Amino acid sequence: MDNCIFCKIASGKIPAKLVYEDQELIAFHDINPSAPVHFLIVPREHIPTLADSRDNHAELLGKMMLLAPKLATELGCGYTSEAGKSSGGFKSLINTGPDGGQEVYHLHMHVMGGSRPW
Ligand code: 5GP
Ligand code: ZN
Repeated sequence: MDNCIFCKIASGKIPAKLVYEDQELIAFHDINPSAPVHFLIVPREHIPTLADSRDNHAELLGKMMLLAPKLATELGCGYTSEAGKSSGGFKSLINTGPDGGQEVYHLHMHVMGGSRPW
């Protein structure tokens, strides 16, 4: 999509602070963070919203979910639970459509973490 900001980031036309990339997914820090750690996991494929995803996207969506805790851990906001004591953790969020507060119409998952309060 020519006029999509996240397609431009995925193709390297616009710079971003990269966290991760592979053939299907890219992750980068949000330009306007809402938490000490705030990054976005974005498929390279231009899927406008979660509501536009189809059965053939199941594996891709699963990879996004599995990547969130891995990258959160690498960035210092992973969740741990040992001997009944839990710490850390993060919020993962996909906004969909106007009432969902979506601003960029290229599917992405927010991952936000860091010590509270934010
Ligand atoms: P949405 O409201 O669509 O779920 O979230 C879009 C997010 O993308 C916002 O948190 C916003 O700060 C972030 N964002 C918008 N444009 C850019 C950009 O050019 N670069 C980066 N890194 N983040 C962006
Ligand atoms: Zn796009």
